Amino acid sequence: MAGKKGQTLDKKPLSVYVHVPFCKRKCLYCDFPSAPGTPEEIAFYFRILMQEIRSFEALDSLYTVSTVFFGGGTPSLVDPKYVRQVLDLLRAQYHFEEDPEISLEANPGTLTQESLAAYRDMGISRLSIGLQSANEDELKILGRIHSFEDFQKSYELAREAGFANINIDLMSALPRQTMEKWQRTLQIAADLKPEHISAYSLIIEEGTPFAETWGTRVGRIYLPGEDLDREMYHYTKEFLASRGYERYEISNYALPGFESRHNMTYWTGGDYVGFGQSAASYLDGRRFQNPAEKTEYLEEAREAYGRFKSTRPLSLKSREEEYMFLGLRMHRGVSREEFKLRFGESFPGTYEKKLLDYCMQGFMEKEDDRIRLTDKGIDVSNVIMADFLQD
Ligand code: SF4
Repeated sequence: MAGKKGQTLDKKPLSVYVHVPFCKRKCLYCDFPSAPGTPEEIAFYFRILMQEIRSFEALDSLYTVSTVFFGGGTPSLVDPKYVRQVLDLLRAQYHFEEDPEISLEANPGTLTQESLAAYRDMGISRLSIGLQSANEDELKILGRIHSFEDFQKSYELAREAGFANINIDLMSALPRQTMEKWQRTLQIAADLKPEHISAYSLIIEEGTPFAETWGTRVGRIYLPGEDLDREMYHYTKEFLASRGYERYEISNYALPGFESRHNMTYWTGGDYVGFGQSAASYLDGRRFQNPAEKTEYLEEAREAYGRFKSTRPLSLKSREEEYMFLGLRMHRGVSREEFKLRFGESFPGTYEKKLLDYCMQGFMEKEDDRIRLTDKGIDVSNVIMADFLQD
């Protein structure tokens, strides 16, 4: 199942994101580009998506694919034949690394023995399953399509099918959530021994049913306050560390060697191409994004490559800012040496001053050449990271 045969030396690694914007039903908190779709709509979407992918054939001369990520939406909702078609096309069109990470996002209740066997057969190596909570009342509040039991069945089926790299997505700071309830979810998830756990705090997004219920003045009373939110966050790190998981990014925890290679591409400023509705790309210093609206995407997909070619590369300053902004998300932090290698110059004086100030105030710490946020710094990470975008 390797990609194209031939010369791969001197090519840069490439991560490929494929957006599948279909869900059985909309979760109440969700503002992602996703919606239910008829079989005809799904077939049409993939037809256009394949055309978009073909139009990017020229990338093969520069890159070797190291990761592929099917995200959504719910990629496990559509017939696996579509996922296979996409992978077949990618392999026919691009060289692949010998051991690529190929991930698929799945929701409990949409996985079957047959679909899991098909995913394994087509070379998918990693599953990311959305549990969010192990408490039934919270799953209902979130408007999820599944029960905890559905999740357990899906997880067991995935292990039986041979998946040895599984992520579980969890969400804290839910309405009416207590510390005990969050601890229960974490404990149940960790007992299953997944290789990776993502744990995000709920954000109430404008325009969602959630905002109407819980985003109002009265609704907010039922949300855990900022102090409890931070308490949950710190507990998560300590508890998961006791189970062998390292927090390698602000909200992501992995057993050694199971960090998400695909997400690391995003956080380390690597090159990636995104196919599908709303998908973003960062290639050769240029950033561009497909339309967030499905009709518009379907109309414009064939011209995506042309749009990419006509995009102007980001300025050196923007790329340096991004390096700092994204690098500080990760436990390994930023490094002077890495910065110099990448940009051919040392940290600008303004960065040095800010880093020194933050270190002195206990928001950052140094280890050899690397500088990273401390736990105290992570609590105000949005403010600190934004500080590197303002020079
Ligand atoms: S499954 Fe994910 S993408 Fe789909 S509606 Fe729920 S949160 Fe949104």
